[in-house]
Amino acid sequence: MIVMKFGGSSVESRVALERVTEIVRKYESRRPIVVVSAMGKTTNKLLAAANEAVAGRREQALTLVDELRAYHLTHGLPVAGAAAAELDRYVRTHFEWLDELVVGLSVVGELSGRSTDAIASVGERLSSLILTFALQAAGIRAQHADSRRFIITDDRFTHAQPCWDETYSALDGELRRMAESAVVVMGGFIGSTKDGQTTTLGRGGSDYSAAIVGAGVGAGEIQIWTDVDGMLTADPRIIPGGHRVKSISFAEAAEMAYFGAKVLHPATVVPAVEKNIPVLILNSRRPEVEGTRITSEPVACHNPVKSISCKRGVTVLNIRSTRMLMAHGFLRRIFEIFDRYKTSVDMVSTSEVSVSLTIEDREQLDHICRELKEFAEISSEDEQAIVCLVGENIRHTPGIAGRAFEVIRQTNIRMISQGASLLNLGFVVAEKDLRDVVAVLHREFFVDLDPAVFD
Ligand code: ADP
Ligand code: ASP
Ligand code: MG
Repeated sequence: MIVMKFGGSSVESRVALERVTEIVRKYESRRPIVVVSAMGKTTNKLLAAANEAVAGRREQALTLVDELRAYHLTHGLPVAGAAAAELDRYVRTHFEWLDELVVGLSVVGELSGRSTDAIASVGERLSSLILTFALQAAGIRAQHADSRRFIITDDRFTHAQPCWDETYSALDGELRRMAESAVVVMGGFIGSTKDGQTTTLGRGGSDYSAAIVGAGVGAGEIQIWTDVDGMLTADPRIIPGGHRVKSISFAEAAEMAYFGAKVLHPATVVPAVEKNIPVLILNSRRPEVEGTRITSEPVACHNPVKSISCKRGVTVLNIRSTRMLMAHGFLRRIFEIFDRYKTSVDMVSTSEVSVSLTIEDREQLDHICRELKEFAEISSEDEQAIVCLVGENIRHTPGIAGRAFEVIRQTNIRMISQGASLLNLGFVVAEKDLRDVVAVLHREFFVDLDPAVFD
């Protein structure tokens, strides 16, 4: 049994759905469970509609829903005959329900996490039905499974976590049985609380769903089908021309994902590592490319750095103790505040009297700063970016930091951190310098590539 996850761009149009159908057909004998994202940018648009509605802009919200309806009815009905009528009915019913929800929200004027998830989940509920019908129309024995019956989560709406015992038992029992006789298709990203409230696992969470399902059914492989040839040596939206990395470790992949490589959701590797299931990143537009293989024991590599990850839109906070020396308990007090406001800290570095750290989510920043000011002086800088060199060999190779800082010596570096795992070297630069910094680092570290690992 294998899990095949298709991201939004892999199912964004009728043509894309046809490509997916042929890919699934190729793997049919390996008894795939297909996990699918919402079509194209549907989730963004659903959330935009919800936000318009609560802001009292009812007509704008309904227009967005209309656009999504038209998009799904145009691209999402790749079947004919009686099946088409049935699918058409499903799609229209979902949109009628959305119309009502959006009108309701515009009256209430308040958007809870629970309503957000009810709306955001529609994308995957529809795409999974649509793909099931598309596979059936192509003669593949396919069956739809409602993810909300299998991925049981806590009630942290918009970023729910699985309740592992319940989830694994549902996956290992009923879902496994279903997958023995048909290609099962289910929506990624969504789940449900024990009492049946729809939840989501956080943006980009379909990768995580795929890994949870893979671990739950004991899959032999988890395939993540997307729009790039695999994990690349640099984010293609920052600099083009990166090389495909053929083989990396779970630890390297986790580090890349955590520091911004959107190609994989950071939580994905956790269930895969736990059950030691290889994860493959593959391109649904070029299925012949062998992609990236992520395992516990990757191929040995001569090059110290495997990839450069980066994260934009970062804020650096400098927190300076108002006492002369770092008082006992200073760090604990700082992190308690971040914890209370549920704000994750990505990178930290400390000196005798100050701590610098980075955050991505600024929503609670004013509250956080108010509390920090009770015992510290604060300054903050936004429009910063984290750049991170990732590779298991960084720890075994002297001089990596020297080489990195030499080539970017003209750039002002705001923070430096070598992760405790020693497989990354990260630093913070102004966002405006990001592209140049990644380009020179890429030129420095990706010459003379080991052909066993890089394409
Ligand atoms: P999907 O919709 O399939 O989940 P995503 O947009 O979430 O796809 O992830 C794929 C994108 O990740 C790529 O199009 C690419 O722009 C981005 N990306 C960022 N860093 C990397 C990297 N190091 N290697 C490959 N892709 C990357
Ligand atoms: N559709 C969801 C999102 O856009 C989940 C995913 O695509 O992974 O965030
Ligand atoms: Mg994604």
